[in-house]
Amino acid sequence: MAVPPSSRGTYALILAADCHQELSVGKLGTLVVQPGLYMYVGSAYGPGGLAARIARHLRNDADKSLKWHIDHLRAVTQVVEVWWTEGEEHCECDWARAFGRMRRASAPRAKFGASDCSSGCPAHLHWFPRQPRVRAFRRHLAAELGVPVADLKIRVQRIEEPFASQVIVTLKRRKKNANVI
Ligand SMILES: [Zn+2]
Repeated sequence: MAVPPSSRGTYALILAADCHQELSVGKLGTLVVQPGLYMYVGSAYGPGGLAARIARHLRNDADKSLKWHIDHLRAVTQVVEVWWTEGEEHCECDWARAFGRMRRASAPRAKFGASDCSSGCPAHLHWFPRQPRVRAFRRHLAAELGVPVADLKIRVQRIEEPFASQVIVTLKRRKKNANVI
């Protein structure tokens, strides 16, 4: 299985939420969390690169400081997967736009994760009723970057935190029931 390297790059966290709640996100205000999947995009250019940044996101202990918007959402969700690409170029905004172009994507809170964004992204966080596929995302990202799909190597690590599979089952059941109605 792929493991995030200590090199620099861009990543997405795939987080599953199983209930509706209003979440306070520091100065940003309130995020209304809905059952579904959240795709959060970030870039890792600090010491330890992708490995260090992703390890921080995976921590969910009481001592962890709530430094970024994502730390608040992370505390009430389960990590399902991490996707990343290695590279020196900052591609965070391209990733955010690619998620935004995918079917059923919505940006639930303006400017979430995008306080420092100078590209005019609505947010660096998107919500989906079910988990987007990496292959579909890769096509959108290739279009966004203007490169051939074959040149893009997106690595995936499945995390499956203890309650993640339960959350996914709950979401599928809800969807089934919604279809019946
Ligand atoms: Zn941006």
